[in-house]
Amino acid sequence: MKADLHIHTTASDGRLSPVSIIKAAIEAGLSHIAITDHDTVDGLLELANAGFTLPSTLSLIPGIELSSDLPNCEVHILGYNIDIHNRKLHDQLQLLIAHRHERAPKMISKLNELGYFITYERVLQLADKATSIGRPHIAKALVEKGYFPTITEVFIQLIGKNGPAYIPHYKLTPSQVIELIIGAGGIPTLAHPALINNDEVVMDLIHAGIQGLEVYHPTHSEEQITKYLTLANHHQLLITGGSDFHAIAGRFPEALGVFTLPSALSYQLQGSIIHKEY
Ligand code: AMP
Ligand code: ZN
Ligand code: FE
Ligand code: FE
Repeated sequence: MKADLHIHTTASDGRLSPVSIIKAAIEAGLSHIAITDHDTVDGLLELANAGFTLPSTLSLIPGIELSSDLPNCEVHILGYNIDIHNRKLHDQLQLLIAHRHERAPKMISKLNELGYFITYERVLQLADKATSIGRPHIAKALVEKGYFPTITEVFIQLIGKNGPAYIPHYKLTPSQVIELIIGAGGIPTLAHPALINNDEVVMDLIHAGIQGLEVYHPTHSEEQITKYLTLANHHQLLITGGSDFHAIAGRFPEALGVFTLPSALSYQLQGSIIHKEY
């Protein structure tokens, strides 16, 4: 088994379309993938509506990555095996997307005031098919105009959380996110806990009803992996992991199949997150 349970597509800020992700996963010899776009299931709906049939060697876990706000930190919660047609989920996602469409022009106004001239129209064009318009799309427009060499540099200078052009987007509370995911039949899993940089918050989230911990993530050190493995076992949480693949040059990993879940763990996830056996 070769599983990657954290992948983004063009429905949010990934660079590969859902179909291209499937093809890349097949080529990389993956057996299980989860598509987990930010605030949207449109990539998964696109695949379902296209009647796309997967080869018997690959199974697709429907997922999502929802942002949640706490003072001083941003928490990302993954939902695995959600019903992508769930009504409440759709209503809530529509609200989140609408807020993102209000927020982007406000950030662009700030940028214009700071002397960076990009337009919302261009950002929308660059976002292409994305439902979830975000900072990466704005950053792309600034790089295209030659203001900055890389997207990372834009985050450092302007649109990082303390940057002069940053505006937060509307987010649900962690409890709301957990309730929404469970309501849609899914398993709420805390994404990249080390990036929260505050284990008290991690503990609060576990008490709020998180059922899985993304122990394996490209940004986690060996020490962090060990720490969160212990924590997950102690609280009887599912141990998950994924590459957080965006297909962005310079952002590790740059290809699918490079970062996968340890095989033994994939077996452990059978019957919960992983439903198909090989
Ligand atoms: P948003 O949801 O619009 O606030 O944008 C958040 C997304 O921006 C994250 O999910 C990342 O994909 C991306 N991002 C956040 N920080 C950085 C960074 N320092 N460099 C590049 N991309 C980033
Ligand atoms: Zn992202
Ligand atoms: Fe995340
Ligand atoms: Fe992610």
